[in-house]
Amino acid sequence: MYVCGITPYDATHLGHAATYLSFDLIHRYSLATDKSVSYIQNITDVDDPLLERATRDHVSWANLAESQIALFRDDMTALRVLPPQHYLGAVETIPWVIEAIASLEKRGAIYRVEDDLYFDISSDGSFKSNSTLSVEEQKLIFAERGGDPDRSGKRNPLDCLIWRAHREGEPSWPSPYGPGRPGWHIECTAIALKYLTAPISIQGGGSDLHFPHHSMCAAQGRVLAGADFARRFVHTGMIGLNGEKMSKSRGNLKFVSVMRDEGIDPMLLRIALLSGHYRADREWSDRLLSESELRLNLWREAFSSPYGGHVEGLIMNISAAISDDLNTPKAFALIDEWAKNRIHSLVHAESSDSVNAIGQLSRYLDGVLGIAL
Ligand code: ZN
Repeated sequence: MYVCGITPYDATHLGHAATYLSFDLIHRYSLATDKSVSYIQNITDVDDPLLERATRDHVSWANLAESQIALFRDDMTALRVLPPQHYLGAVETIPWVIEAIASLEKRGAIYRVEDDLYFDISSDGSFKSNSTLSVEEQKLIFAERGGDPDRSGKRNPLDCLIWRAHREGEPSWPSPYGPGRPGWHIECTAIALKYLTAPISIQGGGSDLHFPHHSMCAAQGRVLAGADFARRFVHTGMIGLNGEKMSKSRGNLKFVSVMRDEGIDPMLLRIALLSGHYRADREWSDRLLSESELRLNLWREAFSSPYGGHVEGLIMNISAAISDDLNTPKAFALIDEWAKNRIHSLVHAESSDSVNAIGQLSRYLDGVLGIAL
């Protein structure tokens, strides 16, 4: 599984958190069902948005990246996200990008515009059938998400930059194509194919990565590997705030680190963000947080209740819900129902049964859902 990581300049807002919590469930569920998992995540630690933010704030881009990566890791630990097996930055993987560019060059899939290198999307025969968007829609979204459809000299407006030649004031690394830095899409393609064999099981990320990022990775991957890049593309919904999309341009981002500093239990954030279905766009609100607190208190009360019973059926049902496209709303409703029944039960269980059952359920919720009570 390859999941696209953050660009470290505004980590970690609730949208990021929701995405990585969703893939954490896939990771945890796979481990719990004895599947071997190779989970790779990148961090785009050199790219235009990071450089622009560093310039705006008069800080070095490398220091900004380093501090944001540290913050992101602390946030993930607090949210009980299991780390991927391999977690790599763009800067440390530049030699792999250069290798990938050389392979694309052999296949006639790249060309120059001045000193920059572009990937020719027509080298992948499946590119056009890969999206339900019209070409005009694609051009619009491409421009919004870092692309340059109108640059003259390009063969196709949607061809993407894979090596940006050095500009004054920008960092660069040596390459056979001249000094420069990697484009965003080729970074993920190169890292994924270094560790995984196409077709990889899952390429994942937020739904805003669907086009162009994952379409470009799919096209580059197909040309490089001669096979489909991924069997599945998994996209997580966006998190809104008070009816608006949460975004840096609106200035309404909610940060996990700030909420932690305010004393909010990260377990509440985990429960709140997983209480909606991962694919749905959903809203963050104070009400969601207070409902999650009631829920957590209910679950904790049930776990300390003297009343008992068996938990095998509950565990089976939660497992079935998670295996059904990560149906966390259903899984949480099952735990709610069990908790209410347990608290209001009139039957005292044999105490040893009760302790064993609670231990079994607690280990299961911790392992598969990452919920510690
Ligand atoms: Zn990516």
